[in-house]
Amino acid sequence: MTEQKIPRATAKRLPIYYRYLNILLDADKTRVSSTELSEAVKVDSATIRRDFSYFGALGKRGYGYDVESLIKFFRKILNQDRLTNVALIGVGNMGHALLNFNFHQDSNVRISAAFDINEDIANTIQSGVPIYPMTDLRTQLEEQQIQVAILTVPSDVAQEVTNEAVAGGIKGILNFTPLRITVPKGVRVQNVDLTNELQTLIYFLEHYNHKD
Ligand code: ATP
Repeated sequence: MTEQKIPRATAKRLPIYYRYLNILLDADKTRVSSTELSEAVKVDSATIRRDFSYFGALGKRGYGYDVESLIKFFRKILNQDRLTNVALIGVGNMGHALLNFNFHQDSNVRISAAFDINEDIANTIQSGVPIYPMTDLRTQLEEQQIQVAILTVPSDVAQEVTNEAVAGGIKGILNFTPLRITVPKGVRVQNVDLTNELQTLIYFLEHYNHKD
């Protein structure tokens, strides 16, 4: 598939483009130039042109890109035309927040199953999402054909839970724990370390943001 040939950096920008193109569509705009797009999404226009060329979307000189056909194309690449079920493992504070967060509003991703070792919350429904005991992990992942998991368990169990998830067929993990988990080849991990992000931001404010 074309997706595999797209560089990682380009792939990361896809949702940004996609979101903005939908805003244009809502505003009844039929076409957009790379310069216009560049200002809106804060990516330089040469990069946008190069990114788009990977998808074979070549803007016409003096016309720009056709918004609707770009959206159709991106939707396919991003799998926006089908709902992707995602699992959440560990329904503590962070897990709860993510269950409440409406991913589905901006994307076709939704958390369809959550898992927790705590028997008090297993077999309940929280924010409209069923919570299953960890013993149901494999069967649910299989039944719902879930390949992506959000990991919000304590870090001391993050690796063992990762192993269980991978054994259950998970191919992508959004890791909210500070632990750098180890996964076999073919499984992708995205780390989201909010503490680290905040500390980096504060560091930059303190060191690089001197006003004249
Ligand atoms: P809380 O205030 O609920 O403790 P928290 O996010 O700080 O919030 P953590 O101790 O980080 O809580 O645990 C997050 C969740 O992960 C909890 O609901 C806990 O029951 C669950 N959990 C702990 N160990 C496992 C495990 N091995 N498998 C699945 N879930 C687990």
